[in-house]
Amino acid sequence: MARIDALLRDAADRIGGDSPRLDAEILLAHVLGKPRSHLYAWPERKLDANQCDAFTRLVEQRIVGEPVAYLVGEQEFWSLPLTVTPAVLIPRPETERLVELALTLHPEPVADVLDLGTGSGAIAIALATERPGWRLLATDISEAALDVARINAERHRCRNLDFAQGNWYDAAPATRRFDLIVSNPPYVRNDDPHLQQGDVRFEPEGALTSGHGGLDDIRRIAAGAREHLRPGGWLLVEHGYDQAVEAGEIFREAGLSEVRCEPDLGGRDRVTLGRYRPDDL
Ligand code: GLN
Repeated sequence: MARIDALLRDAADRIGGDSPRLDAEILLAHVLGKPRSHLYAWPERKLDANQCDAFTRLVEQRIVGEPVAYLVGEQEFWSLPLTVTPAVLIPRPETERLVELALTLHPEPVADVLDLGTGSGAIAIALATERPGWRLLATDISEAALDVARINAERHRCRNLDFAQGNWYDAAPATRRFDLIVSNPPYVRNDDPHLQQGDVRFEPEGALTSGHGGLDDIRRIAAGAREHLRPGGWLLVEHGYDQAVEAGEIFREAGLSEVRCEPDLGGRDRVTLGRYRPDDL
């Protein structure tokens, strides 16, 4: 029977990629049902045969590229553990910037908020837990994604968050107006070579790609914003680091004001925002 430290060394050598040691630790901690610190506290402890088999299977799946988040069924976002399955995009730290901006732009304790294309529910759940007085509607075209989002809302006891299925604004009631509309839509060009690398190979294509320029969905979201925002309300959309100029033009063409782009924590252009100001027109 192998010891924890030896198993980790061996797995890290086989996994490769950017973070083989961390990946191995997360997978082994998952098999043992313990936090990663356990692996450092008990390096000499031995696994039983079932645990060894389970770990070996996960390492083999990781070697062929399966994302760690799908293998353990979980990913942290905004310090909230979220359930993830291959039906949803794996929440990424860049998207926490969008949450931060939404909280700053609208400091009021009461708000109506729409999250378009919620996936795992990451953005909506982060906002719902930060602002219990906000009322949120989170949509997705995928029922399978909404099932995951509902599990997460339940896990974090969000009572101020509802879900609706449909294509972008089709899922929202025609008469309801929002103070904030937020979205991390698909924005990758459909021929982007990155789609053949790393985790994205295993993620739902519908959550990643958006036409030739990657901007088709951002265009749809911006075009409908005025009709669904309250006067003074903001639209915030995540996009690729090289899409800020085009996203800004799309927002202005859609009649939004005070349009600007904010960088993520890595200093890369990430979120474009704009406001519905009927008086400006
Ligand atoms: N940021 C993701 C990536 O790196 C794309 C997410 C999206 O399309 N919304 O591929």
